[in-house]
Amino acid sequence: MELDNIRVSDSMLQRLAELKADNHAESRSRLAAIEEAMTPQWKSSMHSRMDHLGKEASSPRSKLPKLYMLMEEVGALRSEHVSCKAGCSACCRTIPVEISDLEARHIAAATGRAAAALPPGRHTALGQVDTPCPFLVENRCSIYEHRPYSCRSLAVVDRDALACSEENTALTRAKDPRAVPVVMTKMLAFDPLYRDITGRKAGSWADIRQFFPAV
Ligand code: SF4
Ligand code: SF4
Repeated sequence: MELDNIRVSDSMLQRLAELKADNHAESRSRLAAIEEAMTPQWKSSMHSRMDHLGKEASSPRSKLPKLYMLMEEVGALRSEHVSCKAGCSACCRTIPVEISDLEARHIAAATGRAAAALPPGRHTALGQVDTPCPFLVENRCSIYEHRPYSCRSLAVVDRDALACSEENTALTRAKDPRAVPVVMTKMLAFDPLYRDITGRKAGSWADIRQFFPAV
């Protein structure tokens, strides 16, 4: 069958059916392993450093990379339990990536590529995206060290990246019952600090593709 010009083969449908039959058992066990790895002592230390960063008398521009460093620690801790890995990039082609103007300026400074100046407010067009992230190069993130908050926060805890595939995304968009939900984990505990640093109320927000349109 074909959906949105994407061919969904019988073997792909079979693999999706097998994943569905698993009923997220593996995802649940991966989520439990991540929770177990975050010991009370580890959580206490992390919360204290988050609190310290929030109160630090420094500019948002200097706080942002420090926030990213804390998130890296969570990323390292959960890395063996998630399906996300280098070269796996369907998400960078199929989902919106909302960023703040502070993050756009951070990426611009790191890459030398100019970011569009957008007026304050939220410009993100949520929903389907038809173009890959402009920083996806040969299936890898070319700004990995400077990637924005949302790319750091989210990770998939399925046994592989099957649910992220273009085929499953096409089935999901078509509301086909054979589509399988993507099971993910997010670093939600960082959200309030992220909002404080990036100035959720005052800044401008848009998809990374709007700040850095294709050239
Ligand atoms: S598993 Fe999914 S979310 Fe994770 S890197 Fe691969 S395509 Fe992206
Ligand atoms: S910034 Fe990097 S990780 Fe995020 S969507 Fe773009 S290519 Fe993917």
